[in-house]
Amino acid sequence: MAKKKSKGKKLAEKLSYKKKNFWEKADQALKESALAFNDDYRDYLNAGKTERKVVEKTLNMIKDGGYDELTDQTENGKKFYKVNRKKNIAIARLGKKDISHGFRLIVSHIDSPRIDIKQMPLFEDSSADVSLLYTHYYGGIKKYQWMAIPLALYGTVIKENGESVEIEIGDKEGDPVFTFSDLLPHLSAKQYKKKLNEAIDAQKLRLTFGSIPYPDDEVKEKIKLNCLNILNERYGIEEEDFISAELELVPAFSAKDVGIDRGLLGSYGHDDRVCAYTSLKALLEAEQPEYTSIVFLADKEEIGSEGNTGAKSNFIIDFIADLIDFSGHNSSEKLRKILRKSKILSADVNAAINPLFSEVYEKQNAPKIGCGVTVTKFTGARGKGGANDANAEFVAEIRALFNKNDINWQIGEIGKVDEGGGGTIAKFMAEYGPDVIDCGPPVHGMHSPFEVVSKGDVYSAYLAYKVFFENRK
Ligand code: MN
Ligand code: MN
Repeated sequence: MAKKKSKGKKLAEKLSYKKKNFWEKADQALKESALAFNDDYRDYLNAGKTERKVVEKTLNMIKDGGYDELTDQTENGKKFYKVNRKKNIAIARLGKKDISHGFRLIVSHIDSPRIDIKQMPLFEDSSADVSLLYTHYYGGIKKYQWMAIPLALYGTVIKENGESVEIEIGDKEGDPVFTFSDLLPHLSAKQYKKKLNEAIDAQKLRLTFGSIPYPDDEVKEKIKLNCLNILNERYGIEEEDFISAELELVPAFSAKDVGIDRGLLGSYGHDDRVCAYTSLKALLEAEQPEYTSIVFLADKEEIGSEGNTGAKSNFIIDFIADLIDFSGHNSSEKLRKILRKSKILSADVNAAINPLFSEVYEKQNAPKIGCGVTVTKFTGARGKGGANDANAEFVAEIRALFNKNDINWQIGEIGKVDEGGGGTIAKFMAEYGPDVIDCGPPVHGMHSPFEVVSKGDVYSAYLAYKVFFENRK
């Protein structure tokens, strides 16, 4: 006979908050849906190693869905998109309610930390008989993590005549890869004494690019010349063309299931393509949204949302103004009022408790892998500096929405107080007046070449974003 629950135990069950693990909570059908969803997400990751590639892949995904480019000439339609300089994209569906009632927006970013090639990169080191490329890292990386791993080179070279040359080397079967050669342990006596963040000097990130000399004794830098010759034969480019190029180094391996039970997915670039993919799928698959619903995939978040492709640029606000004008209103009168009525999820990742470094997390408030999409009330560092601190009223609204729709979610804060910190796009969006809160899956190994997420959290993010658009009560 089952033992009767004590009064205190019943009271504790009633009053206490407990996180739930997705896999424990989910039935068989939900588990299978989650796994299948992640198979498609894996393809998105592998096809989208750079912001330009993500935009390409995204356009591919919406092309059969009846989405039209929104221009000044657009006269009808209900589904729109606009691409900004090939590096970011906004996609919208008009809602049942007119846009004057406000909109729902999910913003994420499609740039990830990486290593860029400099504008005058190629040189020959005669002491070593190799040619190398100078690089300049992009975003917050731990440099040692990028040593001695295979790297792929992606990017666009714009020639003087405006012609664009696409470069993609390293991910296709049979492609060569590139690497930063690390120092052997035998000769690391001095390096071992350095601090971790000083052990690899940024200027040491010189990429091994070639090793075979051009067969001509009259030439001085034969290995460099041979590299230039190969590039010229294959891509029709010259050394000066590097000046107007954007070339990015990313890990040359694909996303892989992690763990014997395949519950986790490891990949480069989950931050923040996991939110890009899940919010995009949510928008495409939401039943007729109540409010005009928008997905914005931004660039340049990892360097502060700067520039005309970052979230601080006017692109998204212009797109919203265009939607307002298209709906028959005057955006110069209505924009500010509509922004104030609107609600935004800043979809970005948070740091799940890493079991190897659990000392930097405050366990009660940090997200746990597999325990759901994480709602982050505030970000920032040193006393919430630089945070968007979502209002309690909006937190309650999101909490109620997710609970009513049985979304597996958790509240989360990044690390212990004063351990470090970070920011997202949330604060830039909040400046326009809408309610904004951060919401995305937690990850292990954020900003490393191989970040890890739970497939359950990926699927929970998708379901959460979908109910946000559907405003399902
Ligand atoms: Mn991010
Ligand atoms: Mn990041």
